[in-house]
Amino acid sequence: LLSFGENMMINTESVLHGFTDLKNLDHLGPIVLNQAKGIYVYDQNGKKYLDANSGLWNSVVGFDHPRMIEAAKKQYEKFSGYHSFFGRIAEPAVALADKLIEISPFNKGKVFFTNSGSEANDTTVKLLWFINRKKGLSNKRKIITRINSYHGVTAVSASMTGKPYNSEFGLPLDGFIHAACPHYWKNAHDGESEESFTKRMGEDLENIILREGADTIAGFFAEPVMGAGGVIPPSKGYFDVIQKILKKYDIPLIADEVICGFGRTGNLWGSQTYNIKPDIMIASKCITSGFFPLGAVILGDRMSNDLMEASYKAEEFPHGFTAGGHPVGCALALEAIDIIINEKMIENVQRLEPIFMGGLKKFEEFEFIGEARGIGLMGALEMVHDKKTKTPFDGSVSIGERVANQCIENGLICRPLGPSIVLCPPFITTDDEMGIIFETLDKTLKKVFSEVKSLG
Ligand code: PMP
Repeated sequence: LLSFGENMMINTESVLHGFTDLKNLDHLGPIVLNQAKGIYVYDQNGKKYLDANSGLWNSVVGFDHPRMIEAAKKQYEKFSGYHSFFGRIAEPAVALADKLIEISPFNKGKVFFTNSGSEANDTTVKLLWFINRKKGLSNKRKIITRINSYHGVTAVSASMTGKPYNSEFGLPLDGFIHAACPHYWKNAHDGESEESFTKRMGEDLENIILREGADTIAGFFAEPVMGAGGVIPPSKGYFDVIQKILKKYDIPLIADEVICGFGRTGNLWGSQTYNIKPDIMIASKCITSGFFPLGAVILGDRMSNDLMEASYKAEEFPHGFTAGGHPVGCALALEAIDIIINEKMIENVQRLEPIFMGGLKKFEEFEFIGEARGIGLMGALEMVHDKKTKTPFDGSVSIGERVANQCIENGLICRPLGPSIVLCPPFITTDDEMGIIFETLDKTLKKVFSEVKSLG
């Protein structure tokens, strides 16, 4: 039981936590947070944590940015909430759609609003199915993503996510296919050069297309850098090779920019960083810097024309979410985007990148760090039992969890992802704060690795 407010007691067992080791939680209990300042959060005992994960990649302009708080207050006072069905729409949603097209790689296009990244991916699959059926191509339905990719948790977006835990739900649904993961360090054959590896990734995709039939494939979805798969930048030249193949078979490319969008890789879009020319982009997370649930499907010119044609035939696009295009969310997104662009957040990401990546790379000198990888302000350290053979730790060691838990103990939030820990600090992080992150990590890794060594 916890005290809440003046004199109320609350039971922490009433919450069902997603993506949480529930057996462990029974012993440890949840960390209940009740305040935040800058890049720090505070729990109910007043303990302070530097959140080197920006919440869940999204709280990048600071948890208490005064402009964001003011924008929410102003919009709530003016017009507190509305939908966007039946041709009605709140003013900030119109302005945000326009803004997103302006800053997207597209000259023209259309934006559809959702409440989350999962819903945005789910919407995009329905949209492709809808367009193809109206063109008389009812069999053009299959979706290709990659092993280890993360696209969400609804039944369709979870089917796109290439993680083993989806089998716990009997997923993926039929027609969702996972191509190879372009993680050179982990998946290259002995002696294989990065160029040959990339070529093999292309062949893997082309073989899938030929096996399934290009006329059965509705789209290929990819994160520019795989995020929740453990921060996996693509191998060198990967997107050049992949895009050539998709073009050859006329398969739309959808860039899932939920993590990479709005500056994380050092450019506004991850697509810019890797010279990706998508047909559709999916945005969420940093779009409101964690101040409101909001996702967006950003359609380029060709896809919006296709969609409009299909919708005229069907009289409407029969799809939508009650709170999609919420005026407060859209006002907050406009403010967050303005802050990211005009308060020079992306410049700060670029400035910090060498400090951040340099700090991570130094840990490769440690006995159990197999790979330090990343780009911009997203990075991961992958732990291995034997560096030479890249043999992982036994699952019972729970190496990622051990390190992340010790970090928490030391006042630093970073995320365990299998044998890796992930760091993605906010865009407002200062040099001093970056120093604290690396000092804490150094202390934590030394302690955990000496414990692990004593396990034998
Ligand atoms: N796509 C990517 C690349 C993501 O990282 C995530 C969430 N981590 C999603 C989609 C799903 O977003 P949400 O959790 O808002 O549904």
